Amino acid sequence: MSVDTFENFKDGCCQQISAMQDAFGESHDINSYENWFFYENFGVFHFQSNDGRNLYFNYTLAGSFSTKTNTWKWSWDNEYLKESERRDIDKVRAYGLHNGYEQLSTGLIDGDEYTGWAMISVAAKVLNAIGVYRFPENHLFFYLIFTGVLREEEYNALKEKYTVTCRAHGARRAAFVCKHLNGDTYTGFHEPFESSSLIEADDDYQAWCDKCEKVRLREGEWNDVSEGFANIRLICDQCFFQIKARNTRADHQQNVN
Ligand SMILES: [Zn+2]
Ligand SMILES: [Zn+2]
Repeated sequence: MSVDTFENFKDGCCQQISAMQDAFGESHDINSYENWFFYENFGVFHFQSNDGRNLYFNYTLAGSFSTKTNTWKWSWDNEYLKESERRDIDKVRAYGLHNGYEQLSTGLIDGDEYTGWAMISVAAKVLNAIGVYRFPENHLFFYLIFTGVLREEEYNALKEKYTVTCRAHGARRAAFVCKHLNGDTYTGFHEPFESSSLIEADDDYQAWCDKCEKVRLREGEWNDVSEGFANIRLICDQCFFQIKARNTRADHQQNVN
């Protein structure tokens, strides 16, 4: 597809998002909030006013613009960002690949002072955003997209899930595994539902090994015997997905013992 086609698409997005952004700012009275925070582990952006009002949004970090190098970097190409912060942005890349828009499928692109807003507008359109936001950090501007609004109860429920403090991963969700599962050796991996690090599950993450599965099947259920054998321990969800990856790798059979 030609360059013009992308330019047209981009201009359309910019117009549409600009109108949306005005409405977004007005309906939430965003400018009346003095403080903001974000919780990268569970992808929530929090506006707080000095008089005690709160606003919570699900967010995705789309990318950053460097005023030093005049380049835009898509977050899917930024290994320093957490997966939970950038998981949606792969869809923008896929959209670019599908439509032949190289600007969306190239990790780092040259640009100017307008590039950030242009790219965030395109991403906002593709991801059906409800608002966008930008904040500076040193020579970078980070651009993010709000994909949904959270009620106070929803935010609290989410926060309550992130109660495990992992040495490697910080404040994370709890996950439960048998004592045999680890990140080094192949043990087999069984879980009550197919978990994915890309989709936040409502239920707790749980998994157990082949040996535990044998005992569970023999006992017919989780009871004192099978639970005693499994000796379930608490880990963080990131560690959980590392163990899962280790156990679903193609070369896993080499370490069976
Ligand atoms: Zn086990
Ligand atoms: Zn961890």
